[in-house]
Amino acid sequence: MNEAVRNIDGATKLDAAIIGAGVAGLYQIYQLRNMGMKVRAFEAASDVGGTWYWNRYPGARFDSEAYIYQYLFSEDLYKGWSWSERFPGQPEIERWMHYVTDSLDLRKDIQFDARIVSAHYNEDTRRWIIRTEDGETIDAQFLITCCGMLSAPLSELFPGQSSFKGRIFHTARWPHEPIELEGKKVGVIGIGATGIQVIQTIASKVGELTVFVRTPQYVLPMKNPKFGEADVKAYKERFDELKNTLPHTFTGFEYDFMYKWADLTPARRRDVMEEIYQNGSLKLWLASFAEMFFDPEVSEEISEFVRDKMRARLKDPKLCDLLIPKDYGFGTHRVPLETNYLEVYHRPNVKAVSVKDNPIVEIVPEGLKLADGTVHELDMIVMATGFDAGSGALTRIDIRGRGGHTLKEDWGKDIRTAYGMQVHGYPNLFMTGAPLAPSAALCNMTTCLQQQTEWIADCIRYMRDKGVAVIEPTAEVEERWVRHHDETANANLISKTNSWYVGSNVPGKPRRVLSYTGGVGTYRQKCNEVAESGYEGFAMTA
Ligand code: NAP
Repeated sequence: MNEAVRNIDGATKLDAAIIGAGVAGLYQIYQLRNMGMKVRAFEAASDVGGTWYWNRYPGARFDSEAYIYQYLFSEDLYKGWSWSERFPGQPEIERWMHYVTDSLDLRKDIQFDARIVSAHYNEDTRRWIIRTEDGETIDAQFLITCCGMLSAPLSELFPGQSSFKGRIFHTARWPHEPIELEGKKVGVIGIGATGIQVIQTIASKVGELTVFVRTPQYVLPMKNPKFGEADVKAYKERFDELKNTLPHTFTGFEYDFMYKWADLTPARRRDVMEEIYQNGSLKLWLASFAEMFFDPEVSEEISEFVRDKMRARLKDPKLCDLLIPKDYGFGTHRVPLETNYLEVYHRPNVKAVSVKDNPIVEIVPEGLKLADGTVHELDMIVMATGFDAGSGALTRIDIRGRGGHTLKEDWGKDIRTAYGMQVHGYPNLFMTGAPLAPSAALCNMTTCLQQQTEWIADCIRYMRDKGVAVIEPTAEVEERWVRHHDETANANLISKTNSWYVGSNVPGKPRRVLSYTGGVGTYRQKCNEVAESGYEGFAMTA
């Protein structure tokens, strides 16, 4: 008898175990519970929220418009919450997630402070044996991971971190208690979407701020008006329109690509870019000219437009040299929205240090040491150093499928999924926000996660109706999806640029564009076709 079978006695028995109580997990509980299933979500945190629980660093906020970062399955739920501004901050978002949880009465089906450390598929019982860090065993027919695309922080990067005399925080593990910043010498490592939000927020509060810059970043200014009653009423009146539009656009946002580059004169293109830029959103990236992702010349022209905007604000040629990208195209990295971020570098208490050719080699008790031996003395280090995206949340759990194969080993060689939701060799494992689906990179997360959790619920409903106990994608259907994914992704300039989008931020991670780049609407259609075909290519056993 294998270890899993021996341990089934005393296990918590469920129809479905969900990992995570963030945007996806909450809705997945609700759907499966409504189907009469015995379901429980296991959440490592002490409360709901996922991303919006963990990322409580100074300045954390949406850069999708609040009124689209929404559940659209219930008009009452949508209309029962009023946002205070276009791009609200983390505290308001976290409150909204509590509102959703309590409105749907979800807490009774969530176990908090319960980190899942292993999940082994038992081929005898055809069920998952799942263990928490505290030693609880769960025996479930289905394992559904709602762990988030960006939830495995890269927080142990430098030798000597434990020797530092001050405090080190990874942004995704920011403490709940207030952190005294006044008068402190603070170093920020990283200028991705997170680092930028931190930097622009703390610069005026700290004594000295040193920003360690490796790869420059294109940025777009955010326009974030407060919402009065009339604004709230106006967006709520758009509920039906948003419900009908968001699932079908390229990125799950309310806007879509409107123009063809070749149809416009150079002057008109410039006017269009200017007009969209003034929108103060991600629209220039996600809904201007799709050609920027495929045609190097278009990419260069749009990149130059953004560089011009950045130059006009930075003024100082040295800062321009350090902070404006030259060797990759706009939009092939995740584009951050910012507020007076570039102007921060003009402050007398802020300095930018290039660590491109002179990298950080060590954390020492006094601060941070560079390759040339320079030590930057600091009281506090903020690691805005990102995540092992997509796969990391899952490979950090000991997930074993048929034949004892581990996801960590399998994905250590090649990150493969069928439609981003299942993996050959791992029966009855469903995933959301996982590699080879649009989630996170080019997607409004709530749009994508609603679609995936609904697809999963529909699939399980189908299985129950047909008396099917186990589903697993065949090797062929997985291979077909991986090939389609790669063909789509490799035509996209995203595949040529280093960033978490291709896994290049994690040494040794197999390179593949993590997110499906064929568009949110297309992805939905392809997933629907699978369901309509009776899950052709997915092996089902009674
Ligand atoms: P990220 O985009 O991966 O950025 C990490 C930063 O850390 C980069 O600047 C990277 O430099 C730097 N870095 C990493 N290791 C380093 C080292 N050893 N030395 C020097 N620099 C180092 O991570 P993120 O900023 O946390 O953003 C991740 C994603 O989260 C975003 O792309 C976005 O999808 C999401 N996000 C969303 C929001 C929002 O919606 N409001 C806000 C924040 C984040 P290199 O580029 O040179 O590697």
